[in-house]
Amino acid sequence: MSPDKTTTTSLLYLDGISVSFDGFKALNDLSLIIEPGEMRAVIGPNGAGKTTMMDVITGKTRPDQGEVYFGQGAYDLSKLDETEIAELGIGRKFQKPTVFDMHTVEDNLLLALTSDRRVRGTLLWETAAGQHERIDRILETIRLGQLRSRVAGSLSHGQKQWLEIGMLLAQEPQLLLVDEPVAGMTDAETEQTARLLKEINREKAVVVVEHDMAFVRELGVRVTCLHEGSVLAEGTIDQVSANERVVEVYLGR
Ligand code: ADP
Ligand code: MG
Repeated sequence: MSPDKTTTTSLLYLDGISVSFDGFKALNDLSLIIEPGEMRAVIGPNGAGKTTMMDVITGKTRPDQGEVYFGQGAYDLSKLDETEIAELGIGRKFQKPTVFDMHTVEDNLLLALTSDRRVRGTLLWETAAGQHERIDRILETIRLGQLRSRVAGSLSHGQKQWLEIGMLLAQEPQLLLVDEPVAGMTDAETEQTARLLKEINREKAVVVVEHDMAFVRELGVRVTCLHEGSVLAEGTIDQVSANERVVEVYLGR
């Protein structure tokens, strides 16, 4: 028996989600389950509904139908707004980096720390040393320690993406949603990003949308292929790449 919202032990539970824009079904009976601590890669052709799926999870778009629950079925995300969902511990990274170019790497992270409402109340009591420790730890994870005093505007595209991931980490999400992180990155940056996400996944669940199949293979995680708003195939990268329908609508083109 498949679990329902009352029995699920999963971190994220989407069941039968549909979203229409002017009669066009961007999501069509989409179901997806993410387990605690899991990393999932989501692939699929342009227009498959990958970004819309993230919009539904983060409360940016309301589903017309279906259920979306977070945290062992505890939270009905369709009833919460974007801020409430972020505060539950779902962090999202958009395609374009949105770091503050005029500020240093370190100050960008500090801003992210202090814009976290859960932390803000304690900042008066938290020592500067405590904050610096957190920032040091994030800088180590995103490997920008050497560049901490540089203004963000002078970073490469890849480094900006890592900084933005670091800013998300500052909010200590349980689940990180990342939309096409390696688009526009060099091969070396792409490899580094796979390592970074794997390291983050030691502590947090991750859903990563990406077209770069070498990158997805490098992640070595379960893959879901979306097509026309629903799941076309799910499994290992080898299983999904060998699926005839996936080849037909996505890989073969
Ligand atoms: P993907 O991220 O897989 O490329 P999207 O989720 O962005 O796909 O888009 C799925 C479909 O929904 C596309 O056809 C897109 O044009 C449409 N769509 C997405 N957002 C909107 C919107 N706000 N208004 C109208 N159509 C939209
Ligand atoms: Mg998209």
